[in-house]
Amino acid sequence: MFTGLGWLVGAGLFVAVLAGGEVRGDEIRGAENSKTVEVWKNLFTVVHGDGVDSNTTFLITRDGVVVVDTRVTPMEAGKVLREIRKRTDLPILYTINTHYHGDHTFGNQVFKNSRAIIAHENVRRNLTGSSGAAHLDFFKTMNIPGMNETVITLPNIIFKERMEIFVGGYHLKLMHARGHTDGDLFIYIEELKTIITGDLVFNRKVPYMGDAYVEEWISALHELSNLDAEIYIPGHGEPGGKPVLIAMRHYLFNLKEMVRDQLENGKSLEATQDAVRPALQKKYKTWKNLNWLDANIQRAYLEYSLR
Ligand SMILES: [Zn+2]
Repeated sequence: MFTGLGWLVGAGLFVAVLAGGEVRGDEIRGAENSKTVEVWKNLFTVVHGDGVDSNTTFLITRDGVVVVDTRVTPMEAGKVLREIRKRTDLPILYTINTHYHGDHTFGNQVFKNSRAIIAHENVRRNLTGSSGAAHLDFFKTMNIPGMNETVITLPNIIFKERMEIFVGGYHLKLMHARGHTDGDLFIYIEELKTIITGDLVFNRKVPYMGDAYVEEWISALHELSNLDAEIYIPGHGEPGGKPVLIAMRHYLFNLKEMVRDQLENGKSLEATQDAVRPALQKKYKTWKNLNWLDANIQRAYLEYSLR
């Protein structure tokens, strides 16, 4: 059974962990200019970005456009819309949020006239009321240009386990898995052998784990690896092939094993961080966000000490 972390979960912890000094708001911010990558014909990903480096993907079908994640502000979402309009005048049919984090949802208002904004039911719950407001308040501490213009715009079609969309000759399978948050989804496009992973995968970046479920995240990546795909579009970082997925699994597995070794020897959190941090730093020295390692070790320590 795994219920012990229930009280830690959700937007509240996102704020609490960050306020605790392990990760500061400005450390979430990236500095690279955004660029639009053509992943396949008709499938584009906007990677990097000023402010926050979350990816947005759009698929241009013969009937209209599907947008996956909306970036961190209406201003950044507006840049995505311009990238779409350079390529097509067709309507935006569906907007999809891979999870609730603001760097994936706070541009939703730019796409509010799409036929639907779709997400897992927990995304809507986490963005509703006081938890959504606290999450937005936290992002407002980061001094991201245009953040004050964000009006939380909720998904208006939600699902629990799985949803399928047939649009303009494409078949999108939206599948829920808990891992990075309690409301992650990934999108499998079989005819393109492509998976849009959301933040279940970061490419060459230590992942944010403030409200993560480590064990279920590892299982989710196992599920992804069983699908017949060749391209993985991560939530942060460049799209790539299977090695991108494998590297993420290895990172989480290394984190889990190293933390559990310390727990089995009765080590404190601080001692665990002191032992595991240098090992991970060495192994992942080419990755970004290495200053998040202590927070990740803490998250794994909490989870596995409750098991
Ligand atoms: Zn995220």
